[in-house]
Amino acid sequence: MLRVAESFSRTDTGRQRRGNEDAAYNRAPLFAVADGMGGAQAGEVASGVAVETLAAGLPDGDRHEQRLAAVVRAANGRIHTLSREDDRRAGMGTTMTVLLAGEDEVTIAHVGDSRAYRWRDGRLERLTQDHSLVEEMLRQGRLTPEQAREHPQRSVITRALGPEADVAVDTSTERARDGDVYLVCSDGLTSMVDEARIAAVLQDATTLEEAGHGLIDAANAAGGRDNITVVLFRLEEVAVGPGAHAAAEQPTRADLRADEVRGAVATVERPTTETRRLRPRQQGDPRAAGPGPAPEPDRPTRRRRRAWLVAIVLAVVVVPVVGGALLARNAVYFVGADDGFVAIYRGVPVELGLGIELYERNYLSPVPVARVADRELLTGHEWRSRSQAYELVRRLEVGERADAP
Ligand code: CA
Repeated sequence: MLRVAESFSRTDTGRQRRGNEDAAYNRAPLFAVADGMGGAQAGEVASGVAVETLAAGLPDGDRHEQRLAAVVRAANGRIHTLSREDDRRAGMGTTMTVLLAGEDEVTIAHVGDSRAYRWRDGRLERLTQDHSLVEEMLRQGRLTPEQAREHPQRSVITRALGPEADVAVDTSTERARDGDVYLVCSDGLTSMVDEARIAAVLQDATTLEEAGHGLIDAANAAGGRDNITVVLFRLEEVAVGPGAHAAAEQPTRADLRADEVRGAVATVERPTTETRRLRPRQQGDPRAAGPGPAPEPDRPTRRRRRAWLVAIVLAVVVVPVVGGALLARNAVYFVGADDGFVAIYRGVPVELGLGIELYERNYLSPVPVARVADRELLTGHEWRSRSQAYELVRRLEVGERADAP
């Protein structure tokens, strides 16, 4: 199973525009870029409404492509209505490119000329086709790529959210892999920086953050004629027990134990510390090292005995207790909320003070807290196995449980 290991997003006004009409969304598992148009702040409104609609959560459904297309169409409807209610907003619109990171795939919904790319094994692949005049002419063979880059109409798009009451949304699903990096960006990047240069920046960067800043800097260095927005996220493989996210049946007692044990073992095998590297991870993860007794400085012989006693107490009592707590921390899950959305945490719901928490977020659902009528579900912090926690959240996501009217 894959999860989002890290993400980055940034929007930059560029060198020539006064305002920024782009908007970015960066909240795993959803990532998006919207590039508004319409002038006099209308474009800003359109792109803002697009990402707000996303923040309100995905509609129910089994298929990710349909759910994403539905949320993009909902945004279109809202923008269209707003543009008709207010003359100053007449004709406003926005692009929208949304990616949803799933367990082993990435789903894309797309309208306009913002783009999604995948960086894998040192190769950059474009995952979306622009809905733009020049791209159509390119496809028809009426322009060369070089002509397209300099074409005066290159920013004219043939599809957007807002102008019509309904919009056709392109969707696709890509099988994802450990180490994949996805880039979502507005044309303020791609109109200034060609793909070879984007690939070179990704290749040279050692962290997502460095890559993101590098891309924005490159667009500005090339002139920064438009707003530049970059969203990046990296996927990593995480080990899961059997049936962790499977069917609707509750796990049996035996399953549960196997799941817990395997979850704990798997975590020991694969430390979860997030290295912030784009390149393959290095060894020597500091968190993988267990707590060991502190080395005793040289002391007179008569004190050696006491030191030995301390070492034995540490070995017999402290290490197993701390080790047990760490194992429990890896095997126990609870459901709560993070920043308004339903979330799954791994660990026990305890804070030791000084910022030390015995839990970490394992998954952030697109379901907003407001949609969960049974708040006790989120505040009770009941201990669950991994599969129980994921099953509960899955049922919330598909609307089978605890939905507010
Ligand atoms: Ca733009």
